[in-house]
Amino acid sequence: MSTLFSIAENIRKCTSCSLYKNATLAIPGDGPKDAKIMVVGEAPGEQEDRQGLPFVGKSGKLLDQMLTIAGLDRKKVFITNIVKHRPPQNRSPQASEIKTCKELWLDQQIKILKPSLIVILGALAFKALTGKNSLEKLHGTVVEKDRQKYFVTYHPSAALRFAKTKEKMEQDFRKLEILVQKSIK
Ligand code: URA
Repeated sequence: MSTLFSIAENIRKCTSCSLYKNATLAIPGDGPKDAKIMVVGEAPGEQEDRQGLPFVGKSGKLLDQMLTIAGLDRKKVFITNIVKHRPPQNRSPQASEIKTCKELWLDQQIKILKPSLIVILGALAFKALTGKNSLEKLHGTVVEKDRQKYFVTYHPSAALRFAKTKEKMEQDFRKLEILVQKSIK
């Protein structure tokens, strides 16, 4: 039977799309195997590619601040991305890369972890996980698909670029705090 550990081992060997060719390290994800909350971003960046860990660069620092707003300890959540290798020059992952990587790895990680809630960061991850495009309308809310609950918010890199987005993201994480206190066991 697969475990988060064995999946991570296989992700590190993955050559199922061409992203591994330009990447230094694969980034399977990071967090405890009993995490109730999973956080899913888009794709690793430069720092992540060097260190083999998700959200350790500038976006990661902002994510840490947001998690603190929600009263969440980074060490208690499982953090990963839709694609596990850094795309060249941080370009957006292509549809085929998203599909391959999600179906091979993220879907399995979700199945094993069984998180009470998946926090989605940004439009690309939102579309990949729920099929929806309406991040602007649905941010700060819980969307349910196939009996999995998702909390939708912005990507930290957008919040780093636009002060207004950062404000809205902070409001979302305040809502997340209430939600976590009320319903996440
Ligand atoms: N941006 C992401 O989407 N994921 C990371 O791990 C880092 C930056």
